[in-house]
Amino acid sequence: MFHNGPRYTTLMKNVSEFEKLLHAEKTRIEKELAAIAHKNPEIKGDWEPSAPDLNNPAADPNDVADSIEAFEEHAAVEVELEARLMEIDAALARVEVGTYGLCRVCKKEIEEARLHANPAANTCIGHREG
Ligand SMILES: [Zn+2]
Repeated sequence: MFHNGPRYTTLMKNVSEFEKLLHAEKTRIEKELAAIAHKNPEIKGDWEPSAPDLNNPAADPNDVADSIEAFEEHAAVEVELEARLMEIDAALARVEVGTYGLCRVCKKEIEEARLHANPAANTCIGHREG
């Protein structure tokens, strides 16, 4: 389909530079996730926080409380890391289809400074949320 008006395709020359940043961050996050969670075998791309071993009958109740606390902490971090990983995967998908670096609202190119701050950004500064 061809139509008039600005084409929804990236004009950036340095997409590969941002792609590298995205891959580097993805690797780092997957490493962090692997330390506190494991991949959900049933849902692709989903991670679950690793559960503490609460079945040890010799466990000190304080240790059990500690590990529950650690588990809750892991769960919170896991949610954040997983959300970030999804953003990165979405950005990498936009690289694939040639729409990387374009604001999803106005379809204009996202400011390079913004992409340097967040290579997974999908809105320009003007349409940034929050
Ligand atoms: Zn915009």
